[in-house]
Amino acid sequence: MRPRAIPRGSPLVADPTRWEWAEGAACAGHPWELFYGHDTETGADRDEREATAKQVCEGCPLNTWKACLERALIPGPKDQHGVQGGHTPEERIQIRHNRQRHNAKQRRAA
Ligand code: SF4
Repeated sequence: MRPRAIPRGSPLVADPTRWEWAEGAACAGHPWELFYGHDTETGADRDEREATAKQVCEGCPLNTWKACLERALIPGPKDQHGVQGGHTPEERIQIRHNRQRHNAKQRRAA
């Protein structure tokens, strides 16, 4: 399954800290363990769980997905855990780094 494309640079939504975006979230009704797992989880179990969680995220309305991901990209304790916006914590770190590099490149070009 191809991941949704992440726009470079600017945020996906204006204010991801507001909760209206959660309307119609595809994860509603799914157990939170699917997205966050347990401390005792093995690597293989984690991979399988994350793949399943990402499939749920693929079914999320586009604007809800965008807002969820944007909120999860805000640095803080919540960004370090779980599949959010269809991405693992490691993948979100990579998105942040890519944005920082892109924004720095834009500033240098200006
Ligand atoms: S994108 Fe966010 S709101 Fe949508 S299903 Fe995934 S975790 Fe839930």
